[in-house]
Amino acid sequence: MTEYFSIGKPQRVERVMTRKATIVARKVHAVNHLDNILVRIRKAGEILNLSDDLIRTLSSFKLKWESDLEVQMAHGGRERFKACRVWHRSPHTDQPHKGGIRFHPDVNVDMMQAHAIEMSLKCWLMGIAWGGAKGGVAVDPALLTISELKRVTEALVDEMDERNILGPSRDVPAPDVGTNARTMNWIRQRYAQRRRSREDARFAGVVTGKPVGYGLDGIEGRAEATGFGLMHTLERMLAHRPIFFGRQPRIAVMGFGNVGSNVVQAAKLRGHPIIAVSDINGGVYSANGLDVDKLFAHYVDAHTVVGLPGADAITNEELLVLRDIDVLVPAALEHVLTAKNAPSVSAKLIIEGANSPTTSGADEIFEDRNILVVPDICANAGGVTVSFFEWARNMNIQDERVPHGDKQDVLQSMKGIMEKATEEMLANAQMYGTSLRNAALVTAIARVAPLFEEKHLS
Ligand code: NAD
Repeated sequence: MTEYFSIGKPQRVERVMTRKATIVARKVHAVNHLDNILVRIRKAGEILNLSDDLIRTLSSFKLKWESDLEVQMAHGGRERFKACRVWHRSPHTDQPHKGGIRFHPDVNVDMMQAHAIEMSLKCWLMGIAWGGAKGGVAVDPALLTISELKRVTEALVDEMDERNILGPSRDVPAPDVGTNARTMNWIRQRYAQRRRSREDARFAGVVTGKPVGYGLDGIEGRAEATGFGLMHTLERMLAHRPIFFGRQPRIAVMGFGNVGSNVVQAAKLRGHPIIAVSDINGGVYSANGLDVDKLFAHYVDAHTVVGLPGADAITNEELLVLRDIDVLVPAALEHVLTAKNAPSVSAKLIIEGANSPTTSGADEIFEDRNILVVPDICANAGGVTVSFFEWARNMNIQDERVPHGDKQDVLQSMKGIMEKATEEMLANAQMYGTSLRNAALVTAIARVAPLFEEKHLS
């Protein structure tokens, strides 16, 4: 992490300056992110004895799209924002690509390539026949009004649709950092407005993570899915490796957005103490465990965890290396655990809520230090799994895995799919004598390797 903004509402000019510095730093970092994931694919390919050709196929892309969005601002003038979308290579030619839309100053096509690969791997690990995608807009949503954000979203839909990128059977976005159910509803509305005079499609299937309610077509449980799914996976890991010998694990969570806040909620339901949480402004800590109800109430008022009464202030960097925690959940951005801070991490188990929070360098250190890392594509796959349910319902697709009931039914079905994938990952880790990271990739890639081979058979 490079910069943390100060508490409260910072001056617009300060935030813009910080943003510029961060963009330069992250551009370099995005390339490393892609290198990291390509190294991991090669490792998994070697374990599976795949051909070099197939490893190169798995490291390639179907689409890399960039555009400048022109948006009318509240001050009367127009501003331009960089937008991009990437599709990873997929053998599922008749199925859509799937992945989040991110609104964040660091969004660029290099970084989105790595995330698109992660999305493919996550879908394949869960047994969902989609290709990965990722994209977004280089914008800080905190600096825009709601109307400006809506116009940015609509401009993105217009540009993507002009190139025929979006569509329920082509590319189905979902919320990610800086976007939410409301953004998804704007995308669906705009797409339907553009298309409905020309075709009679199931427009609701163009995005997932939509709001729930009459005419909104979202699915109950999507908001909780990623955080709750992560806690199920943690439970499964603890049953498999009883590291804490029956006592409640002490947890720290970096990030208090969709993923982080639901991890905290799910931990509370299990009685696990939350020792620390953080967001972009900083963190809070209590050696005896934070009062979670007070934390949520404080967040509603202050829009940050910082300043929670009765808790000590800590920085994001301090949270990652806390000495008195058992489980660390990075649930904010990528590459926060690096070769630099990995030697100081004290948690015995790291479970990845964010995508790629750990670099390959840090992975090696954690392996040497016997710190168990539950990889992102397994731990945070609850979101895409419930997105699959939502899309299948919107598209009226018959699939025995898709639940037809309420939130409990949805979360239970998600748990079943995640458990099955986790068991397969654990079995592969044992069979190949390798890390959970490698085993997750091996499990995912082994599902699609025969499809790619068949496709390219001459
Ligand atoms: P979000 O925007 O709802 O929340 C992001 C959180 O991270 C916020 O609390 C924010 O304050 C914090 N944050 C942002 N920049 C930070 C910084 N520099 N330092 C510390 N904290 C910072 O996003 P989300 O949907 O919760 O996604 C978080 C991560 O999880 C991302 O990596 C995303 O790709 C991944 N993910 C999300 C889902 C999902 O269903 N939403 C599913 C799988 C993976």
